Amino acid sequence: MTTATPSTSQLLQQLTSGELAATSLVATCLDRIASEDERVGAFLHIDRDGAIEQAARIDERRRVGEELGPLAGIPVAVKDNICATGTKTTCASRMLENFVPPYDAHVIERLRAADAVLIGRTNLDEFAMGSSCENSAFQSTRNPWDLERTPGGSSGGSAAAVAAGMTPLSIGSDTGGSIRQPAAFCGVVGMKPTYGRVSRYGLVAFASSLDQIGPFANDVTGAAQLLEVLAGHDERDTTSINRPVPRYAESLEQPFEGLRIGIAKEHFVEGLDPEVEQAVHTAIDVYRSLGAEIKEVTLPHSEYCVAVYYIVAPSEASSNLARYDGVHYGFRAEKFDNMIDMYSATRGEGFGDEVKRRIMLGTYALSAGYYDAYYLKALKVRRLIRQDFDRAFEEVDVIASPVTPTPAFKIGELIDDPLAMYLNDIYTISANLAGTPGISLPCGFSSDGLPIGLQLQAAPFEEERLLRAARMYERETDWHTKQPDW
Ligand code: GLN
Repeated sequence: MTTATPSTSQLLQQLTSGELAATSLVATCLDRIASEDERVGAFLHIDRDGAIEQAARIDERRRVGEELGPLAGIPVAVKDNICATGTKTTCASRMLENFVPPYDAHVIERLRAADAVLIGRTNLDEFAMGSSCENSAFQSTRNPWDLERTPGGSSGGSAAAVAAGMTPLSIGSDTGGSIRQPAAFCGVVGMKPTYGRVSRYGLVAFASSLDQIGPFANDVTGAAQLLEVLAGHDERDTTSINRPVPRYAESLEQPFEGLRIGIAKEHFVEGLDPEVEQAVHTAIDVYRSLGAEIKEVTLPHSEYCVAVYYIVAPSEASSNLARYDGVHYGFRAEKFDNMIDMYSATRGEGFGDEVKRRIMLGTYALSAGYYDAYYLKALKVRRLIRQDFDRAFEEVDVIASPVTPTPAFKIGELIDDPLAMYLNDIYTISANLAGTPGISLPCGFSSDGLPIGLQLQAAPFEEERLLRAARMYERETDWHTKQPDW
């Protein structure tokens, strides 16, 4: 284990003071990618020339004294399901293998306006469906802490890229844990904001009522700085909320007097690895020693989260993915006899097994006769889950729990057992169903040397509190500074 590459704040300081040029920072990241990514496989495309050019422009603008954006010169890697002009957005699917979007996602506009350097596109499970990056049509990403293991998913490429020091920041999307779970597996910070906090415009839709874009960084401050850039109202996403964006990074160091932390017994259940359980309890003890009040809360409908998610998410996916018909977007099969055959050959060849499984599950749950029994019922239980959180957050500021039941599993270990794979999402799904913000923080290592994550959740739009509570822990510990040995 070695200690960390510089944090985003350190890099920003060096860039502003002139000690570091954006071009040399980008060159360092590109070198690191060149030397390590063959083993890790975090990136699907690297925009070498574009990144160098963007950095050179920033150095030049700094030289002439122009005012620059808040992330000027900082490399950011982007999950390959977020549209950006001039680059392919494949969703790690054959279906979109050659798709170049005609527009920028809102978050890409924000990153460009912040003068971040878009360095490349990261691997994911196809259309963000999965927990291991093994469902990518192109490559499996490996966990930088143990190359035999998965980095988690679906934003595994974004998490691994930060963990391996290939970029200080990256973005991902989280529909059922896809930012927080890979962050936990890779020992970095990852955050899912409140539903509606960040515009989904230009994020390729998986399950629209759950999807949310969020940051990865090697510390809480970096995540806060990036969230500040990503968050904010956008009329093109009707679920984006028009509320001012707090200065998250600025308020981080303010002491959190009277912090109340909730622990739910429903989060410490059968199947939870004892080392993960221990690490989370030790983290809670750190809060206790800092004067936080630890309270028991109850989330009685937790046991239904996985079942509800695996009805709601596939239902929405089956509808969202209907657009890939060989006419509107992307791939079209070469051989077919008639129009119906063209659709089925295109979808049969263009989608991988997991995507097909979700489309079938969703189509089934939405079909006449089953709609009430499955989809509608799931929506009702979803409301109960949200009410559990509303009640709990009347009594506490944040809820602490594990992020994942185990540390990173091996590549190939769960891929043939979809149900076991789905159970991996047991602690992360509730935040998507309830729409609440959640963050994953490094909080220890297993005896095998694998990172373990602590999850904190807060009430909707309480990102500021969430980040302050997270920073309070991070200040007292040094887990976030550890990096894999190469
Ligand atoms: N692992 C979950 C799934 O496969 C979550 C994915 C996500 O958040 N995009 O659906």
